[in-house]
Amino acid sequence: MEQFDVIIIGAGAAGLFCAAQAGQRGRRVLLLDNGKKPGRKILMSGGGRCNFTNLYTEPAAYLSHNPHFCKSALARYTQWDFIDLVNRHGIAWHEKTLGQLFCDDSAQQIVDLLMAECDRGNVTLRLRSEVLSVTRDERGYTLQLNGSTVQAEKLVIASGGLSMPGLGASPFGYKIAEQFGLSVFPTRAALVPFTLHKPLLEQLQTLSGVALDTTIDAQDGTRFKEAMLFTHRGLSGPAVLQISSYWQPGEFVTVDLSPATPLAPFLTAQRDAHPNLSLKNSLAKILPKRLVEVLQALNVVPDVTLKQLNSRQQTELAQTLHAWRIQPNGTEGYRTAEVTLGGVDTTQLSSKTMEARAVPGLYFIGEVADVTGWLGGYNFQWAWSSAWACAQAL
Ligand SMILES: Cc1cc2nc3c(=O)[nH]c(=O)nc-3n(C[C@H](O)[C@H](O)[C@H](O)COP(=O)(O)OP(=O)(O)OC[C@H]3O[C@@H](n4cnc5c(N)ncnc54)[C@H](O)[C@@H]3O)c2cc1C
Repeated sequence: MEQFDVIIIGAGAAGLFCAAQAGQRGRRVLLLDNGKKPGRKILMSGGGRCNFTNLYTEPAAYLSHNPHFCKSALARYTQWDFIDLVNRHGIAWHEKTLGQLFCDDSAQQIVDLLMAECDRGNVTLRLRSEVLSVTRDERGYTLQLNGSTVQAEKLVIASGGLSMPGLGASPFGYKIAEQFGLSVFPTRAALVPFTLHKPLLEQLQTLSGVALDTTIDAQDGTRFKEAMLFTHRGLSGPAVLQISSYWQPGEFVTVDLSPATPLAPFLTAQRDAHPNLSLKNSLAKILPKRLVEVLQALNVVPDVTLKQLNSRQQTELAQTLHAWRIQPNGTEGYRTAEVTLGGVDTTQLSSKTMEARAVPGLYFIGEVADVTGWLGGYNFQWAWSSAWACAQAL
């Protein structure tokens, strides 16, 4: 039976970073993953350029049943610490928008960074490893793998959430938590596109590919101001992905299709300047033309010139376009979701070390815990911060 100080399950963002840090602190670390290569989600992330952190990382950007939990780790290993590391590895990056930092070149650079840091820490990485069982006794944790048995004083679960099963996602971490008596909040796909009920979908399907700036509100009052994209299944784009984390089945979301231009004064000014212009062509100055055409086909936009538009119609139109209420049919689910809401109840973990208070030597880091960030690099920052906090305690 092989002996290590620490075994980490999951060679994703959190597991790789934790392994590297613990290894560099002199621990003998075994890092296990069921996949063929490490960091598969990192490689897919940010359209292949990895949005590795966000300049404006703060606890308010995270959803959790225990909102204070993330504060300590985020404060001890910050976005600036990770940016320093990226700079030390000579990786060029840029801010795309809203504090979101991406590699100039490729997400592979972040995986290479993590692998180089693991090498510095003499981490033993075993891919294609199936963990068949985990038992605990006074010496620590014994893991039965396919073909071998390994043992360590400490066990770190970094197996992530359920999103994108094609990239190795599994409920493993939740099952281990339950095996050791920890509670797990129900999980739900988040940062995920909405699907629409059939009549609305059929009406909007021709808009597939059209994007526009919006503000979008959930029923609980949460608001995001970002782009929305029409797709052949429903609605996507950053605004929709963000609000999906705050949406419950059956609820409505409210979309302002013209957040930058108040429509009533815009139409009044347009009528004064071009009374014979069609309402459709006037709206097409501030909204995508295809969207205006569909709204006219749906009788939301009357087929009139500006001088024919009466004030009641103008008011109604402005109200509808500034507060378009949509009831999604559902979401595209874990198949396309970027993250998983819910997970291991963090009230049972130390916010300083990520250790389960009632189960010495057992730690949960990254997405498996009930901490879910906004779109925009926040989820990787949680992976780095929680991994770092844990590694200091190993
Ligand atoms: C397409 C996509 C794009 C994304 N883009 C971004 C982005 O740009 N910025 C951002 O901040 N976040 C992004 N995210 C979210 C981010 O990838 C995750 O929040 C982050 O990877 C979580 O890190 P983790 O280490 O906890 O889990 P993961 O990175 O998912 O790693 C978990 C690892 O555990 C392994 N594993 C699972 N079960 C087992 C098992 N039974 N045995 C052994 N190993 C197991 C998996 O193979 C995987 O390697 C994106 C997610 C997706 C799906």
